[in-house]
Amino acid sequence: MNIKAKLTIGIGVLVAMIILLVALSVVNLQILTATEPDSPAAAPGLNRALLWIAIVGIICIGIGITMLIRLPSSINKPIKELTDAITEIANHNYEKRLNIKDNQEFSVVSENFNRMAQRLADYHASTLAQMMSAKKYMETIINSLSDPIIGLNNEMKILFINDEALNILNLKREEILNQAAQDIALRNDLLRRLIRELVGEHPREKQEPLKIYADNKESYFQAKYMTITQPGKNGKAPEKKGYVIMLKNITEFKELDSAKTTFISTISHELKTPLSAILMSLQLLEDKRIGALNPEQEDLSNSIKENTERLLNITSELLNMTQVEAGKLQLKPKITKPIELIDYAIKANRVQAEKFNIQIEVEYPEDKIGKLFVDSEKIAWVLTNLLSNAIRYSAENSRVIIGACQTQDGYIELYVQDFGKGIDPRYHKSIFDHYFRVPGTKTQGSGLGLSISRDFVEAHSGTLTVQSELGKGSTFTMRLKA
Ligand code: ADP
Repeated sequence: MNIKAKLTIGIGVLVAMIILLVALSVVNLQILTATEPDSPAAAPGLNRALLWIAIVGIICIGIGITMLIRLPSSINKPIKELTDAITEIANHNYEKRLNIKDNQEFSVVSENFNRMAQRLADYHASTLAQMMSAKKYMETIINSLSDPIIGLNNEMKILFINDEALNILNLKREEILNQAAQDIALRNDLLRRLIRELVGEHPREKQEPLKIYADNKESYFQAKYMTITQPGKNGKAPEKKGYVIMLKNITEFKELDSAKTTFISTISHELKTPLSAILMSLQLLEDKRIGALNPEQEDLSNSIKENTERLLNITSELLNMTQVEAGKLQLKPKITKPIELIDYAIKANRVQAEKFNIQIEVEYPEDKIGKLFVDSEKIAWVLTNLLSNAIRYSAENSRVIIGACQTQDGYIELYVQDFGKGIDPRYHKSIFDHYFRVPGTKTQGSGLGLSISRDFVEAHSGTLTVQSELGKGSTFTMRLKA
């Protein structure tokens, strides 16, 4: 029944009762006026009329009270049921249904509500299923990666981790998923190192490879740290979403690299003996007692000597490089005066300097300089190489400066300055890489000297730097603890 009908019936009944009451009162009044009120003949009619008036009156009051109580609640009840149901839906309880049957308007509302709730439930189930399948798909992709990978949110909680990463970290997924990485790092050395490098100030790409013992073998991994950002919408700045740590398995490359190092080392070593024999034979050939060479023969002999010496230099550079790469660099430090190193370098380069008529100037404050505790052979080699470069990359008839000075903070700086063609600032970093040569360099060389020099100096906890300007010349400075 609808509300209008309810109201109509209620009010109709009430009006009918009131009319009945009025009719009875009129009847009563007529009886009273038609008869003597005190006469015994009027008494039964009067009493009956009064009884009916009382009964009808009580029924009227009853109906009135019932309507007063029932009518608002019969309107309110479905509204309350509807409000409650809407609240449930808003709280994602899509299973909520209404069952209002005794109210025509609300039974329609309830049917529509139930239909909407069913649609929402279906939609929710399908999007949830889609999301779950997308999540599973992502997990499958991440797990199928052969390289270990770990994902973290901004609060450093572990969001995902693949089986490979779990394997090398020796952890269980359920123990660490959604846990703070810092807490787990307290009991896991490898994760501690990764997190430290991730949040550390040092440039991340410079980190040493990780040596990990997993699956009964030694493996090497290069860690890559990525910050995940989401592009900002409507011109807003990109938002940082978290981090991803990827570990690239470089064991294979390491093994190949080590095979290459061994190969170069063996070859260089094997080449040294025949090259030295060639030089010896050349010395004998040049000996006038054996017989004088004609000018062409002398030229040829000189050219063979020069090239053989170059080859010997290259083999010694390659041997030095393999020593560093194989981690076999052994330093034999002893107390050394910087001038001894400078003298050695000048002696080793004298012939070359004379050949191009290059003046070697020495800057050395004898009384104001301390001593070094270094492997003098290695540091002398570096200084010789720097001076050789300065001469080779200078114009004929120019000058180079070699010198040393002590700094306020207790270091000794050994430097070589030339006034040659200089080095483009773009290459100031790369010239210290293995085999790198500035594009367009015509002077012959291997591109190894500076990289080995830096390795030797760094093995002494020192630094080797360059200052250079195109067309003005270069200064290479080696800084070592006094
Ligand atoms: P190499 O001299 O055998 O090529 P190095 O490692 O000693 O190898 O030097 C790397 C490169 O740096 C050189 O090829 C050259 O281009 C550049 N370079 C080094 N020293 C100087 C210098 N004093 N002046 C100009 N260029 C230089």
